[in-house]
This record gives sequence, structure tokens and C-alpha cells, in this order.
Amino acid sequence: MGAGYILEEVDAFPSFEEPVSAAYQSLFASGELARRAETAIAALGSCTLCPRACAVDRLEGQVGFCRTGRLAQVASFDLHFGEEEPLVGESGSGTIFFAQCNLGCVFCQNWELSQSGEAFPEVTAAELAAMMIELQRRGAVNINFVTPSHVVAQILEALPLAVDLGLTVPLVYNSSGYDSLAALRLLDGVVDIYMPDAKFWSAAAAKNYCRAADYPEAAKRAIREMHRQVGDLALDERGLAVRGLLVRQLVMPGGLAGTPDWMAFLAALSPQTYVNVMDQYRPCHQAARFAELSSPPTAAECDAARAEARRAGLTRLDERHRRLGRELWRLLMREAD
Ligand code: SF4
Repeated sequence: MGAGYILEEVDAFPSFEEPVSAAYQSLFASGELARRAETAIAALGSCTLCPRACAVDRLEGQVGFCRTGRLAQVASFDLHFGEEEPLVGESGSGTIFFAQCNLGCVFCQNWELSQSGEAFPEVTAAELAAMMIELQRRGAVNINFVTPSHVVAQILEALPLAVDLGLTVPLVYNSSGYDSLAALRLLDGVVDIYMPDAKFWSAAAAKNYCRAADYPEAAKRAIREMHRQVGDLALDERGLAVRGLLVRQLVMPGGLAGTPDWMAFLAALSPQTYVNVMDQYRPCHQAARFAELSSPPTAAECDAARAEARRAGLTRLDERHRRLGRELWRLLMREAD
């Protein structure tokens, strides 16, 4: 565990004595990984790979809500040190940021990548595999697919090529939680670490701010399935995540995220669910159109959210981001003075 990193009830952590091979290795060896890729690519012909269920033919270049056709668009890929510490270690998480998005929150901090309408470079399966290998070569402790829900098929298509080239590090699926069961089942035994958001508990809020009234039900189904596949977050002897579920919740102003309900849901899944209650909401993109979204949550609201998590019985709360969020808040306040 890195210096300065505080986690509650450390003794309760599951851990592995021996290094664990990434989950996808055995599926690659049996040929199942290639079969999953074929199934997923065929599904692009009438795409219902996420809960939007647009049913467009992406193989023929049609696009649905996510504005992504046959090939994935990558906005950037690099080593990243801003994730939760079990994902970063000393040499960084190998993040691949996909452009476009299947959710489209009005307050998105990365809206230039996800919702600007700008097209980003399309990458072939071979190019995507090469990015993974390049990140691993540079020391990435995992490959972290950011905003992957609309490009599950393209990721699966690239993976056999990457494994053939020597990919061995764990895979992180870093999504909004707006994932379909069909897509997640294609990823069963492939993804090592799921990192979904738990954004809105209320259908009305999800409809207003993400145009997805079904988000709460879809995300609950998805998070249950993710936990079924990989269980609680397990760390190796270095404190690095090797397998499991890590849920992020962004505290929204005015309690809009439904934190008490989400925390009760996650605690019922397992009190050992690793949760990052994040303080860093800031109004971005179109948030100013909504008075209730136009300011950050107060420090008292953020403290109350964490208290809700503990009250629900959750014992593994990430502390690093809380400190970073508070530091950011202090800097913003200083600038405003
Ligand atoms: S992945 Fe894209 S095209 Fe497919 S259902 Fe979702 S939003 Fe629609």
C-alpha cells in the first residue's frame, strides 16, 4: 500500500499471495476469446449492445446515440496517475480514452471528447491492440478502457491480437454503468476489474440530466452482474487491484445522485464493495442550464454522503480522491477570493 493512502478496515481486504494471471488468458488459449469477438462484431449489425438499443447497422456505417460506427474512436491513450491508487501503483494505469459516449450527461467534464460532435481518429483492431501493448511496455499496471460501453465489440476484437502480442496485465472496464447484460456477458471472464459509476438513483433525474430514464434500473442490473462475475476488489501483495468491483459515486448538489439509496444497494451487494465517494463535481458543459446543477456540492453534503456509506455498512471507502477533491475545492475557493 502506498504511503499516505488511507483505507478503512484494511484487515478485511481480500488479497492474493501469488500474482494472478489476467482473466482473459484462459479464454484466449481455448479460442473462446476469438469466438466472443466474432459474436460481438456480428451484433453491430443491429446494435443493442447498450441499453439505448438503437438497432442501427453499424457494420454498414450507420450510427446511433453513441455516434460510433464499425470502428472505435480513440481520443487519447497514456499512462494515467489520477485513478484510485490500487489501479495506479508506481508506474500508472494504461488508460485508453474512447471518444463519444452512450450516456451523454449534461454536466460531463469530458464533453469535448464525449459529446462535441467532433469525430476522433478511428482505430482498427490491430491499432487498438498496439496501443495496449505500447502501454504495457511503458509500465502500465493495467489497461484501463475509459468510456467503453459503446465499443465493447471493438475491444473484444482487438484483445486476441493484443494477447498474441504478449498482453498480460489486468483489464479495467471503466464505465458509466449504463451497460447492457448482453454486452457484460460477452465480457465475462475477459474483464478483470469493473469500475462503474453509480450516477442517479431516480429515473426523473436520469431522464433530465442524461436522457436515460432507465439508467437507475440498467445500472443496478449491470453492477449486480459485474459483481457476480468478479466479486469484491482483490489486491495483490503490492496493493494493486487484480480482480473485482470498484464503484464510483460522484456526489451531486442537492442530493441528486440518491446517495443513501445507492449506498444501501451496494452494501446489500457486499459490505466489502470498494466505493469511491467522489467530491469533485463541478458544473461543466451544459450544467448551467439547470439551476440545481450550477454549483458544487457543499463540504457538508460530501461529508454526509460518506456518512451514508458507513451507515449502510460499507467498510472500504477510498480516501485518496476525497483528499484530492478537497484540495481542488480549496484551490478554487482561493481563486474566487
Ligand atoms: S452502443 Fe451505440 S448504437 Fe449501440 S445501442 Fe448503444 S448507443 Fe446505440
